[in-house]
Amino acid sequence: PLKTTASRRAGLNLLGTLPKMIEPTGRLVEIERLGPATFPTNWRVARRAGDWSLVDPAVRVRVRADWPLPPDHEELWFERAGPRRWLRFDPTQTKAAIVTCGGLCPGLNNVIRSVYLELTRNYGVPTVLGIRHGYLGLTAEGPPPEVLTMERVGPIHRMGGTILGSSRGQRDTAEMAATLERLGITMLFCVGGDGTQRGALAIGREIRAHGKEIAVVGIPKTIDNDLMYTDRTFGFDTAIQIAHQVIQVAHTEAKAGVRGIGLVKLMGRDSGFIAAMATLACQEVNVTLIPEVPFRLEGEEGLLAVLERRLDQRGHAVVVVAEGAGQDLFEGGPEALGFDASGNRRYHDIGLFLKERITDHFKAIGKPADLKYLDPSYIIRSTPAICTDSALCDQLGRDAVHAALAGMTNVVVTRLNNLPALVPMEMTVSRKRVIDPQGPIWTSVLAATGQPPLLR
Ligand code: ATP
Ligand code: MG
Repeated sequence: PLKTTASRRAGLNLLGTLPKMIEPTGRLVEIERLGPATFPTNWRVARRAGDWSLVDPAVRVRVRADWPLPPDHEELWFERAGPRRWLRFDPTQTKAAIVTCGGLCPGLNNVIRSVYLELTRNYGVPTVLGIRHGYLGLTAEGPPPEVLTMERVGPIHRMGGTILGSSRGQRDTAEMAATLERLGITMLFCVGGDGTQRGALAIGREIRAHGKEIAVVGIPKTIDNDLMYTDRTFGFDTAIQIAHQVIQVAHTEAKAGVRGIGLVKLMGRDSGFIAAMATLACQEVNVTLIPEVPFRLEGEEGLLAVLERRLDQRGHAVVVVAEGAGQDLFEGGPEALGFDASGNRRYHDIGLFLKERITDHFKAIGKPADLKYLDPSYIIRSTPAICTDSALCDQLGRDAVHAALAGMTNVVVTRLNNLPALVPMEMTVSRKRVIDPQGPIWTSVLAATGQPPLLR
């Protein structure tokens, strides 16, 4: 049985988690389980290193009421992710599958590789299938799954994209559940955004309704870092790194031009984390526009007047805009374009819109302006993960395997307070994390850019 020493408990306490003897004051967030875990773990590290390498199920990851949640939110105590003493599944009788869905994001291949290696090398799972092209690969129209091998996944952590392919679009939940049952799969790892996790939840519920046991575990993907109950999602650091390079290019172009303007559109549909953090990293940005903070083009402190003054005084300007910013400036507002096949809201192209409006404005007032527009979204999305993201992908991938083998389901793996944590799928898709316009990130951006707090 698992022995927990006093010193180990004290150590974990220093890391911000709670030892068993202290009664939690917040709400315990329990993870759904397929049934009791009665199979002693065969995890290679514990076999060699001992029980101390396993997670004490009593240890919780605690989220303070004020972070990253709005102050009205109650305190939550999440289960720790990591290897468990008792498993639900006998790994040697397990057949696992991995699927990647939605848009590309740096680190997808790293996750696939780490899930595969943890399953096969550290638990001895004999078969891991790769589902091709997202949920399409779980339907009759899609390509058949491939059996993953070390030769196949060995070098992929250095590659962008996903070797399994991805897709969007609605699929029939009953058909996908039936495919998993027919293939004899006992655990499904779903790497993808909120759409993917909604789909995973639907599949997990359908299977449970049939009385079948398949663990469905999500590894959340959002390059925008807009997931609730997480410090940081994989791909975000890489996005900042590349965005930073692009902003520097825009700055160089702007400085070389006669009254040059460098305009950069970055990802960020509902949250401006990439635009804000790239601005702070780069320090060359004069105006940053994010979805959380509305702005106007006209007016004394509107974007056009601010740019005009900047060009008059300094001769060049750099503007960074997140793709979801300024949607209310379009005819019909944010709702006008409806939804795509996966149910994602369609966005007006704020980058091209600003390019035209800024160019037209300077033409109209008879002052020169030389605008260069950069949209690096696809370059960023398909880049291989940089090292901090690679390390995060590895930890998330392995935590997902621990959770599935312990019999947890409808759960995603995250990092909270820098600790591995488990969050019910339903909670992660409930709403998105956004920048607080009165919080430290946005005030830092205002300080670094010098832009007016309200552009109007
Ligand atoms: P991204 O951030 O790139 O949009 P995503 O995972 O949200 O990532 P989507 O294309 O939106 O990508 O969704 C992935 C898959 O999940 C699609 O096949 C989509 O049809 C499916 N899906 C989305 N919402 C649901 C839902 N409510 N129920 C079942 N399946 C869903
Ligand atoms: Mg989506």
